[in-house]
Amino acid sequence: MSETIQQKRPTLSYEIFPPNTQVGDEKIITVLDELKSLKPEFISVTCSNKQRNIEETTIKLSNYVQNTLHIPTKAHLPAIYLSKEQVRSVIDQLDQLGIHKLLALRGDILEDLPPVGDFKYASELVHFVKDYAPHFQISGACYPEVHPDSPNQLQDIKFLKEKVDAGCELLVTQFFLDNNVFYDFQEKCALAGIDTPILAGVMPIINRNQALRLLTSNATAIPRKFKAILDKYEHDPVALRDAGLAYALNQIVDLVTEGISGIHLYTMNQSNTALYIENAARSLFSSPIYESQ
Ligand code: FAD
Repeated sequence: MSETIQQKRPTLSYEIFPPNTQVGDEKIITVLDELKSLKPEFISVTCSNKQRNIEETTIKLSNYVQNTLHIPTKAHLPAIYLSKEQVRSVIDQLDQLGIHKLLALRGDILEDLPPVGDFKYASELVHFVKDYAPHFQISGACYPEVHPDSPNQLQDIKFLKEKVDAGCELLVTQFFLDNNVFYDFQEKCALAGIDTPILAGVMPIINRNQALRLLTSNATAIPRKFKAILDKYEHDPVALRDAGLAYALNQIVDLVTEGISGIHLYTMNQSNTALYIENAARSLFSSPIYESQ
């Protein structure tokens, strides 16, 4: 009989975003009730630079997830348009709500809106929060297909290492469709001395709008197998959704089998997506092979 290899149980977590309509507000409550039953490791709540009212969006929704649903919550905080004083205020509010997990981000730079200047890169925010509130657990974003502002992957990973050294305890990737891109990135991170867990971001592509955005953005490599799905089912919404979900499930089975730290599922506020993945892959995350830890 082969020796038992000690492996760490992979985690499954979800990303949601604060809706910006009344209808969306009502829907997200139903979505979250359904997600709650899945007992995720945590739910992360995004924060848009375009909305600019973090109290009414990210903080309010994070509070609901953390304190009404009692699910550990990670609040996203893009800081490029915030002053140090504003960041202190956000941290104080989260602290009072008992939310101590943060995804520290630079955030996207908007056309025609110059940055405030206090936080040029996410690593500066990580340093700042570690100084101001050392009890916060800070995560950072990373890009298996290289961040678009970066001249190359070597530079990108060098700066990622600086972000980790500043105090990031966990990394979450941008979504990708080719797992080999992730494995290659993970290996390069390890060679660069980055030893924090890296959660793989998986986004099921389940409708034509998502597919078209993907095709026009050019940021994500599209494997032949995935392109064939888009070509064939572009005008059949039900088949496109089913094939998109099956594709994401396949990615997850492969990633978990390869022993990655965890999956962060971009739900796009669709609880059906999370329910499908959970129902189909639950046993992989709760397998008895991890029980002896
Ligand atoms: P950084 O880590 O600061 O990196 C940005 C660029 O600067 C990279 O090219 C990096 O290589 C380079 N760089 C870093 N340090 C230096 C340095 N010292 N000198 C020179 N170059 C440097 N955006 C939102 O607005 N809201 C969200 O809620 C949100 N959630 C996200 C969640 C995840 C998991 C991911 C992957 C992204 C998310 N984003 C979000 C998008 C993100 O804000 C953008 O990708 C943004 O352009 C970069 O943010 P960052 O924190 O990764 O930046």
